[in-house]
Amino acid sequence: MLVIEKLTVEQPSASALDIVAWFVYLLSAVLFVVGLHFMNSPKTARKGNFISSYGMIIACVMAFIVLFMQGFISPIAVVVLIAGIAIGAVAGVVSAKKVKMTDMPQLVSVFNTVGGGAAALVALNDILAGQHEPSLVVLITAGLGVLIGSVTFTGSLIAAGKLQGIGFVKKMSLPGKSVWNVLFALLTIASFVMLCVAPDQRLLWSILTTVFALCYGLVFVIPIGGADMPVVISVLNACTGTAVAMSGLAIDNVALIVAGALVGAAGVTLSVLMAKAMNRPLLSVLAGGFGGSDAAAGSADGPEGTMKETTPDDVAVQLVYADKVIFVPGFGLAQAQAQRELADLGELLKEHGVEVEYAIHPVAGRMPGHMNVLLAEANVPYEELVDLDDINPQFPSANVSLVVGANDVTNPAARKPGTPVSGMPILDVDKSQHVVVMKRGRGRGYAGIENELYFEDNTQMLFGDAKDGLQAVIAAVKELLN
Ligand code: NDP
Repeated sequence: MLVIEKLTVEQPSASALDIVAWFVYLLSAVLFVVGLHFMNSPKTARKGNFISSYGMIIACVMAFIVLFMQGFISPIAVVVLIAGIAIGAVAGVVSAKKVKMTDMPQLVSVFNTVGGGAAALVALNDILAGQHEPSLVVLITAGLGVLIGSVTFTGSLIAAGKLQGIGFVKKMSLPGKSVWNVLFALLTIASFVMLCVAPDQRLLWSILTTVFALCYGLVFVIPIGGADMPVVISVLNACTGTAVAMSGLAIDNVALIVAGALVGAAGVTLSVLMAKAMNRPLLSVLAGGFGGSDAAAGSADGPEGTMKETTPDDVAVQLVYADKVIFVPGFGLAQAQAQRELADLGELLKEHGVEVEYAIHPVAGRMPGHMNVLLAEANVPYEELVDLDDINPQFPSANVSLVVGANDVTNPAARKPGTPVSGMPILDVDKSQHVVVMKRGRGRGYAGIENELYFEDNTQMLFGDAKDGLQAVIAAVKELLN
């Protein structure tokens, strides 16, 4: 506990410090909003990130100054705080710089874990640290901070493990998942209510709220698998923001309230959009009613038949003699870091008079907007990226669809009941005149099931790493055109 003793430090007028702090927090909140606005477009997103991080830096520095000037922290606590800030800052910068683009979703989940846990600890401190009973308003806001922050902590930890593909986490299953869900939800809510109505027993009830909420986070995320993770990640993101906003309300910090509210509102919006993109009722995903565990998906039987292999030369001929080609990027494109090669191939074909479009599925890759960001990085014009609803009617008129590292988002199994992707809208690639799929081998998609598309009569497979394959196709196209 950092609040050790009140020191005799010479203070400026408390109200003057409060006013300065209030304005600094307000300024940091404004910077968060401006930064978020710049994130509207990939071109300005980097600038937006910087602006928001400046907001966070000045808010942290101000919080530190307020604590120190008001004499609420001992010299030892100052050292501990500085050490914590330094360790956190170094860990954050190093991990964000080193992380591969394809591992970004796991990193975001780990950040959600840390954010949710920190919000819960701040709120717990506010409930327990004072000599007097907290007011009902503080109990409600801080209690919600503890509750939501704890759910986010364990839920995001499991989500990060699943996204990282950690064996035992992916294999975890929960028999009777609905029973556990309801049980821990009720226990968590009951403890929270008791915390509010019996503040004299607040140590007991806040500990129980924390423990039950931590368990709820586990039973909430463990059963969710298959292709439903995008929705869960967005919901956990919204929870982190809400927990932070609640902690901000409890300790009366405007920067925390605004930052938390922004993250919470953005997370809720994203959750609704993702649920819509997956054609899932949001509440059913939250109740674990869709997707099934990854363990179950792994055992799903695949379709029967043989795959027809092709060569880069043959693919080049098909592309050069086509009127219209649709590129279908997926997680494998990001994994291979082949976005520039795909963009180069597109330019070559366009110069030759072929119409080229990019089909963008909302959950392709491993994070919302993954394909948009990836292709923007390769300077593919935004207007060539066509959303699912607009591109699907165009597949029958495409001479060739070139699928590069996409799997689940093209799987016709989604049109049948009883699979982990059932009901999810897919890119109707199988309706194209010819389909070429580029992937390394017979690896399954994130949902863990075989893809019927690969066995269709009009589908050919070009096996190998997407970057190598695209380079070979580009070389073959150039040779044909010369
Ligand atoms: P998938 O994960 O379904 O499939 C990717 C395919 O890429 C694999 O079958 C793999 O096959 C291939 N691949 C991997 N590396 C390479 C490489 N270097 N070169 C060529 N191919 C490669 O991807 P999709 O984009 O189709 O679908 C995304 C899935 O992820 C959906 O199920 C979605 O729900 C889920 N998800 C999405 C999130 C989001 O926010 N977008 C977040 C969390 C999950 P092989 O091994 O044979 O090469």
